[in-house]
Amino acid sequence: MNTPTHVAVIGGGPGGYAAAFMASDLGLQVSLVDPEINPGGVCLYRGCIPSKALLHVAKVINETKEAASWGIEFGKPQIHLDKIRAWKESIILQLTQGLGDLSKRRNVNLIQGRARFADAHTIHIDKAAGASEDLTFDYAILATGSRPFIIPSLALDSPRFMDSTSALELEDIPKSLLVIGGGYIGLELGSVYAALGSKVTVVEMTPSLLPGADSNLVNIPSKRLRHQMHAILLNTRVAELKEQENGIRARFEGKNLEKTDQIFDKVLMAAGRKPVTDGLGLENTQIQVDEKGFVKVDLQRRTNEPTIFAVGDIAGEPMLAHKASHEGIVAAEVIAGHKAAFEPAAIPAIVFTDPEIAWCGLTENQAKEQGREIKVARFPWAASGRAMTLGRSEGLTKLIIDPDTERVLGVGIVGVGAGELIAEGALAVEMSALASDVKLTIHAHPTLSETMMEAAEAFYGTSTHIYNPRKI
Ligand code: FAD
Repeated sequence: MNTPTHVAVIGGGPGGYAAAFMASDLGLQVSLVDPEINPGGVCLYRGCIPSKALLHVAKVINETKEAASWGIEFGKPQIHLDKIRAWKESIILQLTQGLGDLSKRRNVNLIQGRARFADAHTIHIDKAAGASEDLTFDYAILATGSRPFIIPSLALDSPRFMDSTSALELEDIPKSLLVIGGGYIGLELGSVYAALGSKVTVVEMTPSLLPGADSNLVNIPSKRLRHQMHAILLNTRVAELKEQENGIRARFEGKNLEKTDQIFDKVLMAAGRKPVTDGLGLENTQIQVDEKGFVKVDLQRRTNEPTIFAVGDIAGEPMLAHKASHEGIVAAEVIAGHKAAFEPAAIPAIVFTDPEIAWCGLTENQAKEQGREIKVARFPWAASGRAMTLGRSEGLTKLIIDPDTERVLGVGIVGVGAGELIAEGALAVEMSALASDVKLTIHAHPTLSETMMEAAEAFYGTSTHIYNPRKI
C-alpha cells in the first residue's frame, strides 16, 4: 500500500492556506499549523481585510463631504467606533470561519500551535496550555509571513505607540497622529484616521511618498492626500520619540522644517515589514536566509533543504497576499510532481489610498534603471466621461509599451477603482498582448475601463477623446 505523501504547512496566511488547499486538492495528505484556530494569517486578521473595511468607512465619509459640490449636503457624521469595530470583526470572522470550513471539507488537518523544525522531516509544535506534539512530514511548506518592522531607536513601550496591528484595533480616534513612513501601510491607515477626524502628520525620509513607485502615478493622490492630512513632511526623519504626560514628543530632522519638535497623541510606526524567521529551528535544517532576512528559494519555491519549500512574505518581495497564494499553489504542485514554477510577468500592486494607485509589469522607473527603451501611452481621465460622472477626473491610465514589438510590458493606473482596473493590465502583460489587442477590444461605455483602450489608442495617435496624432 502506498502511504500518501504528508505535507506539513507552517503558517495559515494566504501563502499557507492556498498551498494547503491545493496540496489537498491534488490528493496529498495535509496538516496546517497556525496559532489561530482558523486560517487567515496577517492578511485576514490584521492586514488586507481589516484595513480595506476601514478604508471603505473613510471613503464613505469623504464622499459625503464631496457630494456638497454636486448639491447634496449631509450633516457631520456620527461615528460609533464600537459599531465600526464590530462590523470589521464580523467580516474577519466570516472569512476566517469560511476558511476553517473549507479546510475541514478538504480534510486538511488544522493544528493550532507554533511549529519549529527539529530536523528536515520533523516539526515540533507548541500548543496551548503547555501541550506539544511532534509531526513528521515528507515535505513542508514554510509560510510564516512577516511582522511590522519597528525602528529600534524609536521603539516605545506605550499605549500611545502603535504598529499596523494595534492601529487596526481602532481603540480611539487620537486628536493628533504621527505616521512614521509614507509607504502604502502608512498612507492607508493614515487616511483612515484622517477621515475619522485625527490630524494626521506623515513623515517620510525620502523625497516622495510611496518610494519606488512611478512619480507621475504618485503625484495625483499626493495632492489629495495633502488636503486630507494635516501635514506631509518629505525628506524628513524622525530622530527621537519621547513619551511625556500630554503625548509623545517627536524630534524631526530634515529640510525646510517649520518646527523640529511636535507633540502627538499617538504615533503609528509604519516603516515596513520584516520576514518571520526567528524561533523556527531553521538551524536544524539546511535552509538559508539572505541578507534582508528572506528565506532563499528557487523558482519552484524550494529552499536549500530539498524537503522544505517557502512561500509568501518569508520568501521575498513583493510582500503581497496574492503573490503569497500563487507561490503556495506552485509549491504544492511541485510537491505533487507537477512541472510548475513561479515565473509571473506581472504581479499587480495596489495602494488603496483615495484615489487608488495600481501598477503591474514593467514600470517607468524600472525601464530607466534597466536602460530599456519604452514608449509610454497615456490617457488622462479628464477626457473620460465616466470619470466626470463620478466627479473624479484627476486619474491617469498609462501603458508601458515595447516600441519594436508593440507589446504591453506594464500598466500604471491612478484614479478611483484603479485596483479593480489593473486586472486587465495584468492579463494584458501575462498574455503578451500587443497595444493593438487592447485597442481593438471593445470596452463598454461609459466605464473607467475604456481608459485602458483609449491609452492603447493614444499609442497609435488615434484616441477618440484626446488629440495627439503620433508623429510618423
Ligand atoms: P501571513 O499572512 O503573514 O501569515 C503567516 C501566518 O504564519 C500567521 O498566521 C502567523 O501567525 C503564522 N506563524 C508565524 N510563525 C509561526 C509558527 N512558528 N508556526 C505556525 N504558524 C506561524 N497585501 C495585499 O496583497 N493587499 C493588501 O491590501 C494588503 N494590505 C495590507 C495591510 C496591512 C495593514 C498589512 C500589515 C499587510 C497588508 N498586506 C496586503 C500584506 C499581506 O498581509 C501579506 O503580504 C500576506 O499576509 C502574506 O501572506 P503569508 O502567507 O506570507 O503570511
